[in-house]
Formats: sequence, structure tokens, C-alpha cells
Amino acid sequence: METKYIFVTGGVVSSLGKGIISSSLACLLKARGYRVTIQKFDPYINIDPGTLNPYEHGECYVTVDGHEADLDLGHYERFTNVPTTRANNVTTGRIYQSVIDKERRGDYLGKTVQIVPHITDEIKRNVKFLGNTGNFDFVITEIGGTVGDIESLPFLESVRQLRWELGDNALCVHLTYVPYIRAAKELKTKPTQHSVKQLQQVGIQPDILVLRTEKDIPADMRRKIAQFCNVAPDAVTQSVDVNSIYKVPLKMHEQHLDEIVLRKMGIEPKGEPRMEHWVDFIKRMDDATETVTIGLVGKYVELQDAYKSINESLFQAATYADHKLNLVYIHSEKLTEENVDEKLRGMDGVIIAPGFGQRGIDGKFVALKYCREHDIPTFGICLGMQCMVIEFARNVLGLPEANSTEMNPNTPDNVIDLMEEQKSISNMGGTMRLGSYDCELQEGSKAAQAYGSTLVRERHRHRFEFNNEYRDRFEQAGMKCVGQNPATHLVEVVEIPEKRWFIGTQYHPEYSSTVPSPNPIFRSFVNAAIEYGRERKK
Ligand code: GLN
Repeated sequence: METKYIFVTGGVVSSLGKGIISSSLACLLKARGYRVTIQKFDPYINIDPGTLNPYEHGECYVTVDGHEADLDLGHYERFTNVPTTRANNVTTGRIYQSVIDKERRGDYLGKTVQIVPHITDEIKRNVKFLGNTGNFDFVITEIGGTVGDIESLPFLESVRQLRWELGDNALCVHLTYVPYIRAAKELKTKPTQHSVKQLQQVGIQPDILVLRTEKDIPADMRRKIAQFCNVAPDAVTQSVDVNSIYKVPLKMHEQHLDEIVLRKMGIEPKGEPRMEHWVDFIKRMDDATETVTIGLVGKYVELQDAYKSINESLFQAATYADHKLNLVYIHSEKLTEENVDEKLRGMDGVIIAPGFGQRGIDGKFVALKYCREHDIPTFGICLGMQCMVIEFARNVLGLPEANSTEMNPNTPDNVIDLMEEQKSISNMGGTMRLGSYDCELQEGSKAAQAYGSTLVRERHRHRFEFNNEYRDRFEQAGMKCVGQNPATHLVEVVEIPEKRWFIGTQYHPEYSSTVPSPNPIFRSFVNAAIEYGRERKK
């Protein structure tokens, strides 16, 4: 079949969850047997979000091919189990960079280079790129930002042109907000009407509306919206707040979103989507009565989205273990020898978070010493793993000044250091070890047991590495390097086998954990935490 394009735009306010709606639709179409991918177009000028700090943009997600991407790509993967790549996230910066490169090469043959048609053509080329691979029946394109933003205009103009060119092979889903005014006890449709008008002004007529709301929107109100907005009444759907994002696909299916999309694109839907596995996951989530308590030690604990993929991985692991997840954020900057017992005593397991720079690092060492000495299940991820190594060097190997050269370039014991190849690079963007690499796990190690395999591939995002010159000393003292890159011998996984569960990974397993395929090492960690919780209660 010819590739179909679905555009998802948003109006009224940001944070409505376009990413979740796009993912839910993709999840349903995939469950009907279609090949689906989702891509995000972000209107900001940065080339990618890699250099944005988490205060600006939440977590930076990493694709298998090493692209630093918007965190919505994480949702796409968690809902569809289809890996994304660099092609799934394009920013205004990338579009302009490529147009300017072409201009410098003389590709425009002396023409004046303009937003229309040159920028819009470049956007259109990128929209169709994945579709043209022949690998997908549906390409869902989420347009970042809100209709009416200056920045998103070239994207909307491109959508307008594409809808015209693609005819029935394209449709537009518009997500808006229907606020509930408490004082008046009323839902208000005016912002939705205005945002659809704004979309119409740039020449786009939405085919389907998804109304985000706290309260159920009565049918007559939805009919009114349909009438005002030139949308078929059955194509005005709602997405009422639910207690888990993973319920959204089922909620949207109840309103036939997948069928409406298929019919509008000339496909008669057959049967039901195969959502048994998903339904089972939701049932486990709703039925769980026991709780597992995990402490996450990091410096961005006040930000909801900074550790998004870790939260979701833990949640998936807990759900598959029929437990509720109680995730306790522990601010690494505020953790000291004096309060560590009070803060960590009640934890069934502790995660030491990834990160960059010095801030909050001492709290991570305090936490790690406490966890190691009290034998609490502990999982260090990236910087968290590096901190495991440093803490062990300081307190077990007797190297009090051991450090990463990221924190102290002059440390006498550079147990974590730059790889030779990285030393000459000073440009910030894209200079890290990024994307998937092989890791060979030692037979019999806890990590190998967790994965049920001795060869795994996980994603990376870091500059610094375990310094192999110290390897023997660590191993002799009880911290084993149980995972390594087969080609370069870089250390990927450390563990202390004599502890309940004390493992650090240089890679980020959280990027590859999805609902259909939860990451085994998170499951193993959460299971160990549940076990430890039970032991303590006895
Ligand atoms: N700052 C460390 C490095 O660059 C760890 C990075 C991370 O935790 N993602 O190596």
C-alpha cells in the first residue's frame, strides 16, 4: 500500500500530550498489523536537544544510531517497540543548516533562497524521508509547539502543501484543550474553536480533533464543536485525564480513533487490534496491591521529565512484577553523612542517576557508600556507574583522591578518564560516545543472569570511561568488570558479586525499555529490590 501520512498538531497550550496521542495511535495501528513510525519536528533552532539542559527540555533521549533526541521519541518507542533513528527527530536548526549548506555549495543556482519554497521544500523532503524507505505503511508526524507560534509557521505551511499533494494519503489530527472553569462549573469550548480557526487561517482543515480535558465532555458539546470546526461529529474525540499514560491507547480505541483514521484514508478496518498484551499490562498495573520503593539519587529531582526513561523503565519493571512503584526522589546536593541513613533507610533499592559535572556528585558518593555497606540493591547508570567506581576506589582501594577527570583533571588516580580519541574534541555537540554498542557479559555474572544472555547491545551517551589500568586492583578487591565492549575492551558493566545486587552500567538501559519488551536489567533490579523489601519486613 502507498505510505499514509498523519500529521498531529496542537493548539491552545503546550504539554497537552501530543506525543502520547501520536504514540497511542501508532500503538493501535501497529496492533492492527501495520508498519508504523512516528517522527517529531521541533521548531527550535538548536540542531538537536543534546546541548539543552534538562531545565529547558527534560531528558535527552538517545536513539540506536546515536542521535540525541526529544524525549517524545522515548514515548514512541515505549508504545510501539519500534526503534527510532536520527530521521525521526528534525529541528528547525537542522532544516536551516541543510538549506544553508546547499546554498553554499551553489545547489540553488543563483536563486534567492527563501522560507517558501526552500525551507518548506526541505521540511517536506524530511517528512517524506522515512515514508520513501518503503519500510512503513503509516508515518505519523508530530509538529512540536502550538498553532499560532511564529516558529511553527514554516512547518504548518509544509503540512498544508503536503495535504494538497498527498490527497487521501494524508490527514491531520489536531489536539486542543477544553478547560474546566471551576468557579462557573463549566467546560469551555471557545479556546478549541479559536485554535481550529488559527489552523484554518494557515490553510489546514483538521480531519480529527482530540480534546484534552479533565472532565468528560458531553456529547452535545462535542457536536457543537464539530459544527463550529467543520469536523465530522464522530471525529471529535476526547482524551480525559487518566492515571497512567499507558491507558491512553485503550481509551482512544474505545472512541474508535484507529477506525476513524483508517476509514478517512480509504481503508475498511477489519476486526480488532491485537491489544491482549497491552490489556494484560494495564490489568497488572491496576491489580497490584504491594509496593516497591525505589530511591533515585540525582540533581534534577525537582524536574518531572529529567529522568523520564528511568522512571518509565522502573514502572514497567514494577508492573511486570505485579507491584506498584513508589519512586522517591532524593536530591544528591542535599544528601550528607548526617542525613543519609534517614533518607535511604526505607528504600528497597536505590538508583544512582546519570549526569554531567560536579554539582551533586558528593551526595552520590555518600549514597553509594551507605548502599554498599548496608547491602541495599543498587543500580548505577552512566555517571552513577562511574561514581560507583570512584567510591569503591576511595573507600575500598584506599585511593582517597580517586576521581573522574571530568570532576578533577589533576587527580592522581584517574579511575574514570577520557578515551584517547575524545581528548582532542572541544566542540560540545555530538562529541560523545553515542548510540548502541555491543557488550559482552561474563558467564555467571549477575548482569548476564539478568539478561539471560552474554551478548547485549545498549545505548550510550558519555565522554568518560573506566580506566582499564586499574582493572586488576578493582577485581582483586571485589568489584568485577563483568561487561566489556568486545572490540575496544572498554568496561561496560561493573558489579560486586558478593552483594545482593550492586551493578553499574556505563550504558543507559533505560532507553530501550518498552511496554512490549521491558529491559531485563531493570526487571532484575526491581525484583531484587522487592526481595530485599520482603526480607526487611520479616
Ligand atoms: N558525565 C559522564 C560522562 O560524560 C556521564 C554521562 C552520563 O551520565 N550520561 O562520561
